[in-house]
Formats: sequence, C-alpha cells, structure tokens
Amino acid sequence: MYDVYFRKSALDSALSHAKSGASVRVETMGLLVGRFCQSRGRSWVLVEGYVTAPNEASSVSVRFSEASFGELSSKLFTAVNARQVVVGWLHSHPGLGCFLSHTDIATQQRYFDHPQSIAVVVDPLSAGGAKKRVYRLEPAQSPRYREISFAAIP
Ligand SMILES: [Zn+2]
Repeated sequence: MYDVYFRKSALDSALSHAKSGASVRVETMGLLVGRFCQSRGRSWVLVEGYVTAPNEASSVSVRFSEASFGELSSKLFTAVNARQVVVGWLHSHPGLGCFLSHTDIATQQRYFDHPQSIAVVVDPLSAGGAKKRVYRLEPAQSPRYREISFAAIP
C-alpha cells in the first residue's frame, strides 16, 4: 500500500514538461488533479492528471505567469470531473535534487492546505534518470515536511 498513486499518463506528462524545461535550464510546474481517497481507516491520494499553463521560470524558481491564469482555469475546468479536485502540485529542480525549499513550503501552506495535499518535486537531470519525490507538510517537525511513498499505476 502506498500513500499516493499516479496514473502513468499524469506522471509522464509532468516528466516530459520537466524535461523540456531542463533542456533550457528552467524549472517547470503544474497542478495535480485527482482524488483524496479514504476507506477502512486508510487514506491515499490518486493523481489522475497534470494541468499546466505558461510558467515564468528560472533555473531556481517557477510560478504561473499572470497571463496564464485564464488558460489554467479553463484547462482545469475541462480536465476535472465532478469527483476530482486539485490534490497538490508538482515542480522541478533541474540538477538540484529533490527537497522542499522555504518558498516551496510557503507555497504548499498557502495554496494546498488540505491535510492530504501533496507536493511533488522532480529532478529530471539526476544521474541515473529522473528522480521523483512526494512530500507532505509536517508543521511540527524539522524539516517541516516528510517524504511519502508512491507508485505509478496504468
Ligand atoms: Zn522548489
């Protein structure tokens, strides 16, 4: 049993976005669409889609451009069905490894405040292939987040 399950298609589109950004040395980001699931005392997250719009990015930062919000909301409108919500976000750290920076933690607190929300970081330039890590905030701990387990499903 894993904390998070990714539809392979969602992970693949996020990774190809991250790789295209890494080829010009910029970070990329997008929203993760899916469901918070609970059954028999267990809870997990199902990620079914990756939605993005033009980013404003450098090698160490990324955000949605102001002009992209209209595009983002219409993409979300068509991507999300009645049972889906935004379950978190994914961004890349090309060549820097996977972790949450202070800015990332602040972003998570501000925009993804459901207790099950996830933050995914990928390093598409990691030796041995793209590295992916999934995190959830743990405000009482130091560092203030912990890594959680994930698997890709068809
Ligand atoms: Zn970051």
